[in-house]
Amino acid sequence: MKKTSTLILFLFLLLSCDVDSSKKEIEPARKPNSFAIVIHGGAGGIKREYFTQEQQDAYAEKLQEALDAGYAILEKGGISLDAVQAAINVMEDSPLFNAGKGAVYNSEGNQEMDAAIMDGKTLNAGAVAGVNHIKNPILAARMVMDSSEHVMLSGKGAEILAKKFGIEMVDSSYFFTEKRLNQLREIQGKEKTPLDHTAYLIKNELIDDHKFGTVGAVAIDKSGNIAAGTSTGGMTNKKYGRIGDVPIIGAGTYANNLTCGISCTGTGEYFMRTVAAHEVSSLIKYKKLSPKEALHEVLFNQIGPLGGEGGIILLDKNGDIFWDFNSTGMFRGFKKSSGETKVEMFEKSPLTPEGRTER
Ligand code: ASP
Repeated sequence: MKKTSTLILFLFLLLSCDVDSSKKEIEPARKPNSFAIVIHGGAGGIKREYFTQEQQDAYAEKLQEALDAGYAILEKGGISLDAVQAAINVMEDSPLFNAGKGAVYNSEGNQEMDAAIMDGKTLNAGAVAGVNHIKNPILAARMVMDSSEHVMLSGKGAEILAKKFGIEMVDSSYFFTEKRLNQLREIQGKEKTPLDHTAYLIKNELIDDHKFGTVGAVAIDKSGNIAAGTSTGGMTNKKYGRIGDVPIIGAGTYANNLTCGISCTGTGEYFMRTVAAHEVSSLIKYKKLSPKEALHEVLFNQIGPLGGEGGIILLDKNGDIFWDFNSTGMFRGFKKSSGETKVEMFEKSPLTPEGRTER
C-alpha cells in the first residue's frame, strides 16, 4: 500500500515538472534590459494608389521620427510613459495625423481633441476630452494622471489645469489645416462621421476623407514596465461634445504589466461598446488566449460584426509586438532593442516564420 502511494506521488511530481517546462516554452521570458516601442498613425482606407511617393515618404519619415524619439528615451533607461509621450508628441505636432495640429473638424467647424495615457505598472491613468487650446493633449493627459486625483478631465476644466501646470497653450487657430477643413466641407450635411484615413480622388485631387489619423504608442522599458497612450481629433463631422474611445480607459487605451499595452484606432463608438482594449487584455489574462488570438477575437469577432472598423497595436509583457486591422491599411511601425524595426502603411505583410501575423 505504502509502495503504491509512493509511486503515485512520484508520478504526480513527474507530471507537474512536465507541465512547468511546457509553460516555459509557451511564455518565453523577456530578455533582461530589452525594450521596445510600437506606434500607429491611424487606420482606414489606406491604399498605395491614393498616395504619391512624396506623401508616402512624408508619412514614413514622420513615423520613423516618432519611433526614434520614443526609442531614444528607452535606450537611455527612461521609462515607458516618457517614451510613449515623446512618440505621440512628434505625431501630434505633424499635420499629417488627426491629433494635435491637423486634427479633424466637428460638425460646428471646431476641433475637439481627446487623449489618454496609462501606466501598466500601477494602473494609473490620465485622460483629457474635448480640448482645443492644449498644443499637445497627451501632455495634459499625463498631467491629469500625475498631478490630479482624477482620471479624466474634459473641456475647460482640463484646459485650466493644463495652463496651471505650465503646459503649452495655443490659440485654436494653431490646429487649423486646409485639408481637414476641406474634409468637413465634403461631408457636411451628409449626416456621416467618417474616419480619417480613407482617401479618394475627387476632381483629380487627393482628398483624405475617411481617415482614422489618430495616433498611439505602446512601449516597454528596460524594467519591463508597459505604458500606452493615444491622441486624436476624433471623427470628421462628429457632433459638438462627442467623445470617442481614445480617452476612455479600457476602450481605446489600456496598459497592464500582467498582460500587455494597447492603443486602438477606428470608429470609436464600436471600440467603446466592446471595451476593446480591456477586453483584449482580459482575454489574455483570464482566458489565457495568446495576444494574437485575443486581438483577433476582439477586432474580427466583436468589433467587425457590429460594423466597426479600425486597428489595434499591442505590446505584450514579453516585449513581443502585434498589430492588426480590419480596414485596408494602418500607419504603423515598431522598433525593438534587438535591432528589429519596421514602418508600414498598406496591406498586411505575410505570416512571419514564427506564425505571428502583422508583427
Ligand atoms: N477612435 C477615434 C475616435 O473615435 C478615431 C480614430 O481612431 O481615427 O475618436
